Amino acid sequence: MTSESKPAHFLQNLIREDLAEGRVSQVATRFPPEPNGYLHIGHAKSICLNFGLAQEFGGTCNLRFDDTNPAKEEEEFVDAIKRDVSWLGFEWNGEAKYSSDNFDQLYQWALHLIKAGKAYVCDLSAEEARHYRGTLKEPGKNSPYRDRSVEENLALFEKMRNGEMEEGQCSLRAKIDMAAPNINLRDPIIYRIKKMAHHQTGDKWCIYPSYDFTHGQCDAIEGISHSICTLEFEDHKPLYDWLIENLPVPSRPRQYEFARLHLNYTVVSKRKLKQLVDEGHVDGWDDPRMPTLSGMRRRGFTPTSIRNFCEMIGVTRSDSVVDVGMLEYSIRDDLDKNAPRAMCVMEPLKVTLKNYPEGREEMLSAPGHPVRDDLPARELPFGRTLYIEKEDFREEANKKYKRLVLGKKVRLRNAYVIFAEEVVKNDAGEIVEVICSVDLDSLGKDPADGVKPKGVIHWVSAVNNVECEVRLYDRLFNDSAPDAGGKNFLDCVNPDNLQILKGCKAEIGLAKAAPEQGYQFERNGYFCRDSKYGSAEVPVFNRTIGLRDSWAKEQNK
Ligand code: ATP
Ligand code: MG
Repeated sequence: MTSESKPAHFLQNLIREDLAEGRVSQVATRFPPEPNGYLHIGHAKSICLNFGLAQEFGGTCNLRFDDTNPAKEEEEFVDAIKRDVSWLGFEWNGEAKYSSDNFDQLYQWALHLIKAGKAYVCDLSAEEARHYRGTLKEPGKNSPYRDRSVEENLALFEKMRNGEMEEGQCSLRAKIDMAAPNINLRDPIIYRIKKMAHHQTGDKWCIYPSYDFTHGQCDAIEGISHSICTLEFEDHKPLYDWLIENLPVPSRPRQYEFARLHLNYTVVSKRKLKQLVDEGHVDGWDDPRMPTLSGMRRRGFTPTSIRNFCEMIGVTRSDSVVDVGMLEYSIRDDLDKNAPRAMCVMEPLKVTLKNYPEGREEMLSAPGHPVRDDLPARELPFGRTLYIEKEDFREEANKKYKRLVLGKKVRLRNAYVIFAEEVVKNDAGEIVEVICSVDLDSLGKDPADGVKPKGVIHWVSAVNNVECEVRLYDRLFNDSAPDAGGKNFLDCVNPDNLQILKGCKAEIGLAKAAPEQGYQFERNGYFCRDSKYGSAEVPVFNRTIGLRDSWAKEQNK
């Protein structure tokens, strides 16, 4: 699916109209993560949307760290977020920005509201304030501190700023309307005391602006034309607009909302992902089982696959749950087209070709990809001893089993036809070796006797290969809605989400595999070398996704 073949979504239409009617001359968007965790697949939807619209309309997209809460934010997250946005293939406009860059200006604007009689210092405790706020059905009541004079408010706010008040002792509130049907307009808090250092501003401040007092004003400072956020901010929009109207801001941004991404079998909440990390259910934010961009990258997802997925799911204003199969389809589709092929035997069984000269090795050539001529051919060392997959041999089998059977033939992929003559067993009766003969006249052609083998199996040289460890991942959760319906999502963690195979044997070329470069291990799935674990001698390969395309099949039913 390409953008050309897809009808425009509501935001594309809206921007087109804004441009056509001259309401906006230059499209400017922003992606505003809070640096309190790593980015996940939900964020990718927002990134593709914001950067995508800027690209489409010849505008700009800023990266702005929405860093108003020093308690939960860290520099580590800032760095990881930048890496992930770049990796997805997007370039932000100029330097990365921080809401905290504007703390001085926001402070001045708070003073502006106080002087205009539109903000006051309120001494109600959090508990009392809740009581005064009212409910969805009942209006709130005015705070007893609402009518303080401008002078008194200025003096008290100054004290707040100077650290002369305790946390929770008072706050600065906008004076709007305690009877407003929208609770966000009932004198919302715009500044709180937090005696805490900030990762950008150090200990300069002990009062911090609220999200609502920050976001729209930063949009205005940056000249954002379309401030796009998720639907839960719809109720904040009247406050967004009130602040823009009542402050001497340099531009008039407007907020638009779209539906968040929800994926089945997945959680996309930073808080929950953090819990998985902190409680050791996974091995860090970049664990290949995590739906974080850094985890998916390690797992072998490509930026293209994620961007295609975001394109496929579209942008709407109604909440729905997307099938994780769509994401799997998207990576499989990209890797099928672009990943070089390779062979890797997961559970090796030794094969000896009794009529192949001892000590001899020849180099066979195999295509890098069935249709991509630009991917280089591979060299496959072939000799007297090989490994095949344990499950690709049986002493006896019915006709449906199209692999190697005692007394029958099979073709070795990209190589010769072999014939199984004998099995060697250990004391426990397990097959440890298969003695075969090889038809050296069968390379790239049918055997001379006209008896064609039924199947093709993969193999590697037993002498000249790379030993490796293979990690097979399954879904992190075994429940399609791990965080719905009052469930504890931790109870839904799939206990079999990782299987580690050691002593696997891969074709020699994979010794040079770069981390995160995807390969199709023929007959097996898509894999990439892990960027964290493994050594030069024994690399670790992560299974990105299996070969089977269950989602597309489902769609075609
Ligand atoms: P979380 O619930 O994971 O903590 P958040 O909204 O608090 O998410 P932010 O760092 O504030 O996280 O998000 C940055 C931007 O990404 C916001 O504009 C937010 O709306 C958007 N975003 C976050 N999660 C999703 C999602 N699941 N789908 C689409 N956009 C999302
Ligand atoms: Mg947020």
